[in-house]
Amino acid sequence: MSKQLILALSKGRILDETLPLLADAGISPSEDLGASRKLLFDTNLDDVKLVILRATDVPTYVQLGAADIGVAGKDVLLEHGAEGLYEPLDLEIAACKLMTAGITGAEPARARRRVATKFVNVARRYYAVQGIQAEVIKLYGAMELAPLMNLADEIVDIVDTGNTLRANGMEPRELIAPISTRLVVNKAAMTMKHERLKPLIARLEQAVAARRECI
Ligand code: AMP
Repeated sequence: MSKQLILALSKGRILDETLPLLADAGISPSEDLGASRKLLFDTNLDDVKLVILRATDVPTYVQLGAADIGVAGKDVLLEHGAEGLYEPLDLEIAACKLMTAGITGAEPARARRRVATKFVNVARRYYAVQGIQAEVIKLYGAMELAPLMNLADEIVDIVDTGNTLRANGMEPRELIAPISTRLVVNKAAMTMKHERLKPLIARLEQAVAARRECI
C-alpha cells in the first residue's frame, strides 16, 4: 500500500460544508479547488491527497481501496451498503432527512404503490419492512416531478426545508432515516495504515466536537 492517504470528498453541497470542517481539523487543499478542472489535489499535509468525486462514487472508491478514507452522506451509504467500510465518525454536517413524499392531501392508498426514487435499495427495504407492496422506479433526478406526471404515487427523496416538495404541490409523509455526512474508512487501510489514519480521524473528531460546543 502507498504511504499516502487518499481522502475522497463528495462534490456539491456536501463539499461546501466539508472544506471548512477539514480546515478546522488543519487540512486544506494546496490550491483553490474551483480554479481548475483537476480532481486530485495535494494538501498542506505531505501524506494526504484529496480526490473530488461524485457523491455516489465515494463509497465505491473507499470500499475498493482506491481511496483510504472518504466523506459521504448517510443517504448514499444506506443505498450503497456497508461492505468493506467502517463508518467511524458522524461529521454532523449537511443534515437532512430521507423521507417518503406524495401529492399534498392525496391518500397513499393503492394496493401496489409505485415509488420513484434514486434510492432504490433503501426504498425496496423500507416498503418491505412496512409490509407495503411497492413497484420501485429508478430515476436519476427531479423525483418530485414523478407524481405530478403520473409516473408514481410516491417518491423517496432527501428533504431539508421541504421547499422543493411544497413548490411542486407535494408533502413529506414518513421519515425513513435522519441523514448527515459520515466519515468512511476502507477496512484494510484501517489496519494497514492505522498509524496514519488514527491521528487524522482524531483531528476530525476534535473539530466536530469543538463545533458542537459552539452551538
Ligand atoms: P429542500 O427543498 O430544502 O427540502 O431540499 C431538498 C432538495 O435539496 C432535495 O431534493 C435534495 O436533492 C437536496 N438536498 C437538501 N439537503 C441535502 C443534503 N444534505 N444532501 C444532499 N442533497 C440535499
